[in-house]
Amino acid sequence: MLIRIVPLGEIEDSLLTAIKEALEETLNARCKLLEKTPLPDSAFNRWRRQFDAEKILDFLYDTGKIKFIDKSIPTLAITKEDIYYNGLNFVFGLEDPAGCCIISIARLDPRFYGEPKGFSVLIERAVKEAVHEIGHFLGLDHCPDRFCVMSFSPSVDDVDRKSRDFCKNCKVKLATKGINIE
Ligand SMILES: [Zn+2]
Ligand SMILES: [Zn+2]
Repeated sequence: MLIRIVPLGEIEDSLLTAIKEALEETLNARCKLLEKTPLPDSAFNRWRRQFDAEKILDFLYDTGKIKFIDKSIPTLAITKEDIYYNGLNFVFGLEDPAGCCIISIARLDPRFYGEPKGFSVLIERAVKEAVHEIGHFLGLDHCPDRFCVMSFSPSVDDVDRKSRDFCKNCKVKLATKGINIE
């Protein structure tokens, strides 16, 4: 499997590389880092001081920043900005059936909760959320297994509780779609 990664706005190369390598290992995939793309002003909500995840994805589609030649290739946009969607206060990530997923590492960073900087904690959380959104892209729903990466994780504690791997059931579902991650 090939995964395209689109860095959105300012984000350190060290973070991107670490996320890329961890994703490749976890999903037995190859990741291609695309060039950095600025976040669109049109997606920023000044009142909420957050970006609208849907508007970011629309921007990526409309401007042709991402060419969806092959919808079987998941595209993962990564931003440090806080994002929201629909009626939700915030989201860690979002998957769009058109082929693009987005994750925000804003609330995955320990510093957001007043804790000291923790690079490995941040990477681990980011990989879980990235794998989760890509899992949706591959057709998986939320999983009742609390340790499965596809379990619903509305808080950072839930993210920490689950693993970065798919449970047995989810792996079987992926295998029936011809996706073998081992
Ligand atoms: Zn989900
Ligand atoms: Zn599962």
